Amino acid sequence: MLIRFKSSQFRYAFIYIVITFLVLLLLNYYSSKVNQDMVFANKEKAMVQQCNILSSEIGKLEIINKSNVAEVISRNENDNVIRLIVTKANGEVIYDSVNPTSVQTQYVLLPEIVKSLGGYNVFSSVYQYGAIQSKVATPVYSYGTMVGSVYIMETDARQGALIANLQETTLIISIVLELVVVVFSMIFSHIYSSRLHKISMSMRSVREGNYSHGVTIGGNDELTVLGAEYNDLVAKLQVSEQKRNNFVSDASHELKTPLASIKLLSDSILQYDMDMESVREFVGDIGNEADRLNRMTQKLLSLSRIEGQVDSDCEIIYMAPTVERVIRMLDRLAESHETLIISDLSDDCTILILEDDLYQIVFNLVENAIKYNISGGKVFITLRREKDNAVLQIRDTGMGIPKESLEHIFERFYRVDKARARKSGGSGLGLSIVRNMVERNQGTIKVESTVGAGTTFTLVFPVFDTEEQA
Ligand code: ADP
Repeated sequence: MLIRFKSSQFRYAFIYIVITFLVLLLLNYYSSKVNQDMVFANKEKAMVQQCNILSSEIGKLEIINKSNVAEVISRNENDNVIRLIVTKANGEVIYDSVNPTSVQTQYVLLPEIVKSLGGYNVFSSVYQYGAIQSKVATPVYSYGTMVGSVYIMETDARQGALIANLQETTLIISIVLELVVVVFSMIFSHIYSSRLHKISMSMRSVREGNYSHGVTIGGNDELTVLGAEYNDLVAKLQVSEQKRNNFVSDASHELKTPLASIKLLSDSILQYDMDMESVREFVGDIGNEADRLNRMTQKLLSLSRIEGQVDSDCEIIYMAPTVERVIRMLDRLAESHETLIISDLSDDCTILILEDDLYQIVFNLVENAIKYNISGGKVFITLRREKDNAVLQIRDTGMGIPKESLEHIFERFYRVDKARARKSGGSGLGLSIVRNMVERNQGTIKVESTVGAGTTFTLVFPVFDTEEQA
């Protein structure tokens, strides 16, 4: 099992183990203490009772002497007693079980006896070496006068064994429990870390450019959600990486063509003896190709600008003046194509957009409507408000777009008729830029077309009322 000691899971598992260890330790201590206290309390009750019986029987004796006391003691014998002392009120020993036949006068000043001679019942108990050692001393009263003391010392191995047994059992259960906690903590920690490890391995592989490495995280917890979110992210990255690759290869392919033409034309000028007229024509063609390259790079730059741009500069503007500005700009182009622009623009369309974006969108669409029109054709531009939307329509009477091409015209570098579009200076980027800009400004774009009859682009933007309108 692979355990990463620095991992947060290991730290959590370790903390969990330490906490359960402390809890079990406390439980062990507390249960053994309660158990001991219970045994001690029982012992005290039994021994004080035994001692009181002896005291009262001795107190009832006519003459309290050694033989009479020994007689009483022998009637109340107990196997656990290891020492039994009976003293007079001054501490002089009448009977001592350790030395029952001694005739010498002896005084015992054991603390329990001294205290009991003060008129108290004294009890103390300790659990030691697997046995309970208890001491009890009670005063002896004869006709109301305190005449001595009875002291009993007892060792109870049976009760001691009971305590030891209970302590041992609790300890074994605790150790087993702790082991179970350790094993399960390690297993869960390992499972958790290996699930995280899966994600980090996949991240590494994605970082190295391998986007096919999603992760499968089982279960139904936060990590499963993280795994799913991560897979979504990787899928998006894969798509954008794919787009980027396509873009780069398309762009280099498209740039290659005018560059190859320039090279061919300049080689021809250098290799062949040409009259000045032909040289002029070739150089003119080189200029045209250079212009096309220029336009293409401008559009590529504009595309990358849109993708990296933030919408912070958007403002609420009237659409009509911008559309009119485009019409003015393209007037000459329309004239050269013998195309008539007819516009009908409503003044109440205000939308939230970057003005440059709107200009670029309308410019590209109207330019296309002129470029792909027939000679003597028309371009109709209408702007009207429909409820909360501003609808801009650019309709031409041009050649139209075949049905199968309609779904592709917004793709980068897509041109319906490559040869014709190239001749007209087309790069296949204009509509891609338009769609990007429209979507970036919460708008939608739709195209309808009939080959030979014309094409209509419909743009819809949500209206944002200006303060003066509101
Ligand atoms: P381009 O720079 O080639 O004009 P666009 O992205 O603007 O690139 O247009 C893509 C293709 O869609 C064009 O090459 C053209 O074939 C077709 N197209 C665009 N607008 C029109 C239109 N109004 N009428 C007919 N075809 C059009």
